[in-house]
Amino acid sequence: LAKHFEIGGGGLFGLRKGVSLRAVDEVSLRIMAGETLGLVGESGCGKSTLGRLLLRLIEPTAGRIAFDGKDITGLGRMEMRAVRRSMQIIFQDPYGALNPRMSVEDIIGEPLIIHGARPGAETRKQVTQMLEKVGLPARALDRFPHEFSGGQRQRIGIARALILHPRLIVCDEAVSALDVSVQAQIVNLLQDLQREMGLTYLFIAHDLSVVRHISDRVAVMYLGKVVEVADKKTIYSAPLHPYTRALIAAVPAQHPAQRSRGMRERIAGDIPSALNPPSGCRFHTRCPHVMAVCRERAPALTEPAPGHRVACHLTEMPKA
Ligand code: SF4
Ligand code: MG
Repeated sequence: LAKHFEIGGGGLFGLRKGVSLRAVDEVSLRIMAGETLGLVGESGCGKSTLGRLLLRLIEPTAGRIAFDGKDITGLGRMEMRAVRRSMQIIFQDPYGALNPRMSVEDIIGEPLIIHGARPGAETRKQVTQMLEKVGLPARALDRFPHEFSGGQRQRIGIARALILHPRLIVCDEAVSALDVSVQAQIVNLLQDLQREMGLTYLFIAHDLSVVRHISDRVAVMYLGKVVEVADKKTIYSAPLHPYTRALIAAVPAQHPAQRSRGMRERIAGDIPSALNPPSGCRFHTRCPHVMAVCRERAPALTEPAPGHRVACHLTEMPKA
């Protein structure tokens, strides 16, 4: 099924220096070493698929993925195993992602074992150190996932993802299921770990408020297309794409309920099917600024300012 998903128009990806991801229709997503790129859009827009493509957990229909400037698209299973040590993913639902019958020690230590370590004192020591790094006591080792709160379970998931000392982490809605106060704790932890371990994050969320604190740059996706990319300050203070503006307008309230209501007030209708997207600009069925050209022609991604890219006919038009 994943093979039929197309992202960025062609389903084609290319990577350049650092950890970067580029769709062939001139959408160029690049994740620089040590930064956090926030990736935002409504569910179904393809952001999780993009994260999985980057890790090669699913295969692109066509195109190229590179890591550290190295093309990893054609790597075989054994070669990919070595690369995979460097790239890990943290999921939204820490409970669903953790095997309920495994102890915390086994959950966190399993990647070490898979990559050739022997169970024993040395592995236990590494797991204990990682537990400390994520703020859990050593006595958690012999416990099971159900004995922990949602936030603690996410710490266990983070420890498992970090035990191999990876360089790139895809955080797929990693804090979205948590209470706001717990969210803040986990985001702070992720930032501390980033500094300490030199990590690069692709931080996926459906909500701009969640990525605000942690991101250096933000990419906004709509129906498989990256519609706007900019540094954080620009995205929040001077967004150009109507969809980005609508997402920001939906954020002010602290209450999730108000947030989703704001969203519905400002963006008309539901998100169309990604399998049969609207012609022209894919956002045209919901855009308050829609023009005739929008229904016919997809806007190209332009760069109105260095590092700020946007795909909208409004931005393409010469300023009067
Ligand atoms: Fe709206 Fe047209 Fe811009 Fe698409 S191209 S976001 S429909 S104004
Ligand atoms: Mg998702």
